[in-house]
Amino acid sequence: MKSANPPAKRAKREKAAPLGSAGAHSKEKEKGSSGSRPEGKAAAGSEGVAYVAAEDTDVLDCGVCFLPLKPPIFQCGKGHVVCSPCRDKLAPAGKCHVCGIATRNYLRCHAMERLVDSIRVQCPNAAHGCSTRLTYYDQHGHCQTCVHAPRHCPGKDCSFLGSTEALLDHFTSAHGWPSTTKISAFETCSISLYDGFNFILADCGEDNDPGTTATSSSSSRYLFLLKVTRQPLGRSITVHCIGQESASEGLRYELSYSRVLYDPWDHNKFLGSHSLLSEINVECMDLANGLPDPDDCFQFVMPDSVLRNNVKKDAIDIKVRISIISLE
Ligand SMILES: [Zn+2]
Ligand SMILES: [Zn+2]
Ligand SMILES: [Zn+2]
Ligand SMILES: [Zn+2]
Repeated sequence: MKSANPPAKRAKREKAAPLGSAGAHSKEKEKGSSGSRPEGKAAAGSEGVAYVAAEDTDVLDCGVCFLPLKPPIFQCGKGHVVCSPCRDKLAPAGKCHVCGIATRNYLRCHAMERLVDSIRVQCPNAAHGCSTRLTYYDQHGHCQTCVHAPRHCPGKDCSFLGSTEALLDHFTSAHGWPSTTKISAFETCSISLYDGFNFILADCGEDNDPGTTATSSSSSRYLFLLKVTRQPLGRSITVHCIGQESASEGLRYELSYSRVLYDPWDHNKFLGSHSLLSEINVECMDLANGLPDPDDCFQFVMPDSVLRNNVKKDAIDIKVRISIISLE
């Protein structure tokens, strides 16, 4: 009996040791918080999520560029942390930006790396339906492409603001604007466009294999606004993306229209054929300032002489092909 006790005790002590030693090393910083933690919880491991409110998120930013710290993170001999690009930039100067210690003494700061990796923040668009939990340093990148970021309705005097999904619902229910949602990038699709606003929700994921259902992540979908305007000699189409501009990729729209004309009184009499093809660089905008003047935008123009006697009186059947190009 007696001999069985000491090993059990030792095992318990060993388990508790990391907590105790961590508390001893960082006593100054943690100011007793480690001491008050129940032993049982500490032994449960690192899975527990602490709902902490950072009083000062500057501590998670690089002291030189003020951008969120992201691994790999480095520290000088005295513990001043910098991000990896800043460490490289400081190298020619040869010393720490705070204390002046030679930069060749920079070391990886694994504790800070673990800290920034463990802190999760809610997407700022949580109220608009985004449930993504992000590391602090990923927040900016995510917000650039978050499909839940609210966008403005382009309707005149309409103040609606919502996510892509909410906007599409709103366009149909509040304005009756036509929208198309089953279009994939890199494929030529035929759509009917009506005067005024037309919307296309396109799936621009790279591998749009119809056999797999999970590939079309919401972040790869783009909402396009195609505006058809009556002009003196025909109709023009402008294209915009409702969303945030990406620095790494560009959106291209290929619009094409072709028609063979026959004499309306003699259907066998060929009058002529007409083909139009334009490649348009599509700009992304959140429409906070409304739509730009069509005269300042690239316009795809179809002459009335060709549109006249169209089978569909109010619609133009046009072919679209969306592609994404890398700008890096
Ligand atoms: Zn930096
Ligand atoms: Zn330093
Ligand atoms: Zn989000
Ligand atoms: Zn509206």
